[in-house]
Amino acid sequence: MAKKQFQAESKRLLDMMINSIYTQREIFLRELISNASDAIDKLYYKALVDDQLVFNKEDYFIKITADKASRTLTITDTGIGMTQEDLENNLGIIAKSGSLAFKKENELKDGHNIIGQFGVGFYSAFMVADVITVTSKTLGSSEAFKWESEGADGYTIVPTEKDSVGTEIILKIKENTEDDQYDEYLEEYRLKSIIKKYSDFIRYPIKMDVKGQ
Ligand code: ADP
Ligand code: MG
Repeated sequence: MAKKQFQAESKRLLDMMINSIYTQREIFLRELISNASDAIDKLYYKALVDDQLVFNKEDYFIKITADKASRTLTITDTGIGMTQEDLENNLGIIAKSGSLAFKKENELKDGHNIIGQFGVGFYSAFMVADVITVTSKTLGSSEAFKWESEGADGYTIVPTEKDSVGTEIILKIKENTEDDQYDEYLEEYRLKSIIKKYSDFIRYPIKMDVKGQ
């Protein structure tokens, strides 16, 4: 499948993300956890008004898995999921609330100072990942789709298999360089401290599993 291009504004934000300074990178996890939580909220409210849908509290959770051998950090949620169109519309374009607030402020100030303060959204994961793979299956659908991107040069969407409803986001964590360290985003203590700092208020359990030494 041919690669699709991001919109111009999205490209600009992407560049800013990729070149962000070290101390702000950790907020990517806050953004992905907040998206996961929003997605579970959507399913939860659907279940509240639909007698056909029965869900137990244990069914709702967010899981963070780090695998040092493959350098992957995976954020899984049991939320509403995304259709092929959702993947296209929501991850291919920046037009959402948090990002909009960010852009407005950005016209006034130096962008680098505000990345940490605003909801800069999904793209912030490109601060720490050189490949992002999103696999999602939405409620009521038998099909699942996989969105994948290496950043500025666009993204692909292909059909795939997924058992359960929800979304799995796999970040291929960047290699360390002389100036930049990324290994820490595969360390349990580091991930826990970022979650504590930014996501303490999330009302769904955040489970963690770290593999490898
Ligand atoms: P915002 O959260 O401000 O809308 P984001 O860039 O964080 O902006 O996310 C863009 C959109 O992508 C979300 O509004 C949502 O529709 C979709 N999305 C992102 N992550 C998920 C997820 N884990 N499950 C379902 N939808 C998601
Ligand atoms: Mg968001």
